[in-house]
Amino acid sequence: MSIDQEIEKAAQILAKASNAVASCGAGISAESGIPTFRDPGGVWERVDPSEAATSEGLIATLKRDPQKLLPFFMELLETFERAEPNPAHYALKELEHMGILKTVVTQNIDNLHLEAGNTDVIEVHGSGFRMRCLSCEWSKNYSRRELISRIKQKMSDADSFTFSDIVELMPKCEGCGAVTRPDVVMFGEQVKDIPRSFEAARKCDVMLAIGTSGVVYPAAYLPFQAKDAGARVIVVNPNENAFQSVSDVYVPLKAGEAMERIVKEVKEIVLDKK
Ligand SMILES: [Zn+2]
Repeated sequence: MSIDQEIEKAAQILAKASNAVASCGAGISAESGIPTFRDPGGVWERVDPSEAATSEGLIATLKRDPQKLLPFFMELLETFERAEPNPAHYALKELEHMGILKTVVTQNIDNLHLEAGNTDVIEVHGSGFRMRCLSCEWSKNYSRRELISRIKQKMSDADSFTFSDIVELMPKCEGCGAVTRPDVVMFGEQVKDIPRSFEAARKCDVMLAIGTSGVVYPAAYLPFQAKDAGARVIVVNPNENAFQSVSDVYVPLKAGEAMERIVKEVKEIVLDKK
């Protein structure tokens, strides 16, 4: 089938759906300017994940050489500060608005699905803009730009940093006053909300796998779970992915273009029926 035919088929399937679930990977945020970390040319080719991506490694690195990761932190802050939801995020919001999509399961920590307007977002790798206390149960969602500008301001006020200066960059717990950290899943930590993600996959009528290669847990399993339970599976990914055997539709385009075209056709189908 041609790409046009795949898009048409995806739209036909979605137009009949009322409980679709989208499982989104780094590919959907790439068009918002957030580079994928693990791909060739990604962050983990320049920064050693054993020094920055596990909590023990990160603390050890910051204690040994507090300056070492500052350029990396600044780059991350600036990347997340510039990012905006892209047409793929807004297409998912429109599908929810039309009563077609219920839940987004995302591997991304950038808050862009919520900012685009989706309401049921399962963030399996956490959120970079929710801080959680290391001593008590307190956590709080911050506005992305507000938190970033606060941290950048503190960073620009000092020329060099000790380990405790870096800890002080984070907001304090408003419950007990202790140190907080971003509520993101680092390497070696437990992925969040797995039972809810699997339940959403088992109950959905359509699974949309967008920008996920199928190698990162739990996203790797969701389309298979959904297919087993009788759902149709639509895969959007310009790159090779692990879902060929379960794809009813495969759109080999970037997320923004694919989703914009699919949702446009869904609207035409729905309007024709009225
Ligand atoms: Zn606390």
